[in-house]
Amino acid sequence: MAKGDHGFSIGIDLGTTYSCVAVWLDQQNRVEIIHNDQGNRTTPSFVAFTDDQRLIGDAAKNQAAANPNNTVFDAKRLIGRKYSDPIIQIDKMMWPFNVVADINDKPMIIIKYKGQEKLLSAEEISSMILMKMKEIAEAYLEAQVKDVVVTVPAYFNDSQRKATIDAALIAGLNVMRIINEPTAAAIAYGIDKRTNCVGERNIFVFDLGGGTFDVSLLTIKDKVFQVKASAGNTHLGGEDFDNRMVNYFVEEIKRKNKVDISGNLRALRRLRTACERAKRTLSFAVSTCVEVDALFQGIDLCSSITRAKFEEINMELFVECMETVDRCLSDAKMEKSSVHDVVLVGGSSRIPKVQQLLQDYFNGKDLCKSINPDEAVAYGAAVQAALLSEGFKNVPDLVLLDVTPLSLGIAVKGDLMSVVIPRNTPIPVQKKQIYGTFKDDLTSVQINVYEGERTKASDNNLLGFFSLSGFPPAPKYHPFDICFDIDVNGILSVSAVETVTCYKNEITIINDQGRLSAEEIKRMIQEAETFQAEDKKFHRKANAMNALDAYVYKMKSFLKQEDIKLKLLSQEREEISSAITKAMNLLDGKNLHDDGDVFEDYLKELANLFEPIMGKFG
Ligand code: AMP
Repeated sequence: MAKGDHGFSIGIDLGTTYSCVAVWLDQQNRVEIIHNDQGNRTTPSFVAFTDDQRLIGDAAKNQAAANPNNTVFDAKRLIGRKYSDPIIQIDKMMWPFNVVADINDKPMIIIKYKGQEKLLSAEEISSMILMKMKEIAEAYLEAQVKDVVVTVPAYFNDSQRKATIDAALIAGLNVMRIINEPTAAAIAYGIDKRTNCVGERNIFVFDLGGGTFDVSLLTIKDKVFQVKASAGNTHLGGEDFDNRMVNYFVEEIKRKNKVDISGNLRALRRLRTACERAKRTLSFAVSTCVEVDALFQGIDLCSSITRAKFEEINMELFVECMETVDRCLSDAKMEKSSVHDVVLVGGSSRIPKVQQLLQDYFNGKDLCKSINPDEAVAYGAAVQAALLSEGFKNVPDLVLLDVTPLSLGIAVKGDLMSVVIPRNTPIPVQKKQIYGTFKDDLTSVQINVYEGERTKASDNNLLGFFSLSGFPPAPKYHPFDICFDIDVNGILSVSAVETVTCYKNEITIINDQGRLSAEEIKRMIQEAETFQAEDKKFHRKANAMNALDAYVYKMKSFLKQEDIKLKLLSQEREEISSAITKAMNLLDGKNLHDDGDVFEDYLKELANLFEPIMGKFG
């Protein structure tokens, strides 16, 4: 298994709607996708808060409809972004939970937990999901997990990557490497095809998930992965196909039953669940039934839909996907015939029509679909985790290096972008460049660091700024060195040094705008531990209450037995009955007792009373 310096190491695909965890099994020479406590191989990226507990994964998603304001999802859409980011402003309108800005314009999610309002950052929500994935792995491995490879979309910028690392830190994980999702998928397939992975290979990764669509063109050459181009739509995926089917049935019900269910949220929700199930069935059957009892005003929905109809109502969206594929290839200036492999990722890439359109587009090329599309990214991350750990004999020496997704540089006179590290440079990398002051007698210069491809610096994304100050006044063009350093995770540090005069000044910035400070991370780690302790306490209490309840049931059944009724002394009957009443009062007043001790203690007391009496009757 993937054993790093601190124990086992795993790969986590931290997805927008679902997450997945995997581990490399060295002796068996394969990757294991680890199932969760519900037996599912992917876990909803959902966290919910109630009056008495916190829920993560399936349990959180299952109660979402009943507790919409306190069920948080889509944290990945928030992470590493500013509240004022137009993307957040649009997404916010679709979330049932509330998001506000803190004083640094960082988005904070408002939730109510145990009757109290709390503000949580996207990093904290993501850390809870990561912690759940860690626990899933630990339960399977029966060992502690510390080291992890986490995947992020290829388009994630520096602050989104850093915020993801922070989330892992809060979860008590050590991030060995952050890798791009398409790179991970390509690594997953690289295992099967490593023998012909020589020379340059062009890989097209088509990732159609529940709510997002990403395509990337990668090239592997000399152990370096390059993202040549990427494109996508952050709001296109399985949920849109479900919605189209929902609308189709709303219209059918209008026609057939003369009622409009579109204003009834509960009916729509139940219909959506049935449609999602039908959609999955249509990926292997040519038609399926859609049935919902008492959907609206006592009306049962009992209908069916064919695969052809499903394809017809969604064709516009499928075509949009293909247009995006075409745009990505033209951005990369690559002919489709030059693509060696087309890799399918994301649950919605199972839809036969999508596969057919994609295969037709690539002139009949076979698609890589032997690995479950919703597991391919975690699969690749697990291989990468094993590669970065020690003591593996069988893990193949696969391509490891990533590249910078965007050019990085500073603003120079005239608001021009001066690139220090060009886009697609393999990382890790360190580059130095000499600049000069732009005016006579300056004693300080402000350095604005940008990422992007635009000529005008301010059209690019400002990553951070700092000033180099305190040097003596000098004529124009007085030189200073700027050094850009990107580590293996794509994280950037920038430093500036004034070297000519005896007076030296050096400042290093680590782009930390909007990033959590060390104190904040420390506080959040403590809070995460508190949350975990409370979860444990809650489960202990729930288990103790269940055990007491079961024991009361056993005692009641005992009293009901005819032969016992005859043989039991009246004093014994009274003792048992009053003990049962006390137990039931204790269970009814469950909120009065915050921990399981009271129930555990009383169960012992009951057993002491009851076991000897029961023992007399064999
Ligand atoms: P992901 O985010 O990659 O896990 O993808 C989840 C999406 O894939 C959801 O919208 C699912 O409804 C969809 N999905 C999963 N399995 C299938 C299938 N067999 N056919 C069509 N869509 C599917």
